[in-house]
Amino acid sequence: MDLGLNGRRALVCAASKGLGRACALALAREGVAVTITARTAAVLEATADDIRRETGAAVTVVVGDIATERGRADALAACPDPDILVNNAGGPPPGDFRDWDREVWIRALDANMLAPIALIRAVVDGMIARRFGRIVNITSGAVKAPIDHLGLSNGARAGLTGFVAGLARQTVRHGVTINNLLPGPFDTDRIRSNAAAGAAKAGTSVEAFLESRAAANPAGRFGDPEEFGAACAFLCGRQAGFITGQNLLLDGGAYPGTL
Ligand code: NAP
Repeated sequence: MDLGLNGRRALVCAASKGLGRACALALAREGVAVTITARTAAVLEATADDIRRETGAAVTVVVGDIATERGRADALAACPDPDILVNNAGGPPPGDFRDWDREVWIRALDANMLAPIALIRAVVDGMIARRFGRIVNITSGAVKAPIDHLGLSNGARAGLTGFVAGLARQTVRHGVTINNLLPGPFDTDRIRSNAAAGAAKAGTSVEAFLESRAAANPAGRFGDPEEFGAACAFLCGRQAGFITGQNLLLDGGAYPGTL
């Protein structure tokens, strides 16, 4: 399927590794010029080289923290009029809500709710004026089914989801869709770092803990980031213009609901 994206420009946040990287790669394969961000320059540069080598696409790197005003300003300076915005940032740490003061909450809200809203605010009117735009927010399966030790993520992402639900209905008549992708367990660094706490609690090794989690998923495995990137590219494509305000769960069937 030709997604009709050749020649488009995308800003893909937090994209040196994992799901963000997979989205950038999938878009670059469709001929999109991508601007990718992350905080660690060396890893970001290496990812940019990999994407260029594989796809021949133009890749611009912006080193910075997307949860800060400075990080967003630098990203927008490099890619001021994106046709596609993929919002992403690292997830907040696990823990017990009794230990989280206001500062901890503000950090989670900044990264996983307010940063994506600020970037949408910066680019959406340009997309509307150009009559084409695709905004994809990477959130979490925790939006559908909260994860007990990830209360910061449950809360911050629910806030973003509520905001997007309203805005997505206002932009679609101008050719601009806004959707959320909800990852279940994907095989990335994030799942490994989160597993450490679970493994310690269960009195087992991180590898054994991850193996049992993968086996317990209805698919019998974790998701491959490439699968996630492909879903993102489809939502950004020409054919997806009638899909907006949706929360697409990619979790191998782990969420047990009928709808
Ligand atoms: P990952 O493999 O750890 O990759 C995170 C990427 O984001 C890295 O490139 C990292 O680079 C960058 N990053 C993190 N914080 C950033 C910031 N403030 N500004 C700019 N770049 C930043 O994580 P992932 O698994 O792809 O997860 C992506 C998102 O999906 C996270 O919010 C995560 O909580 C959520 N999620 C993941 C899963 C899963 O199973 N993987 C499940 C549910 C939800 P630097 O560290 O160098 O900045």
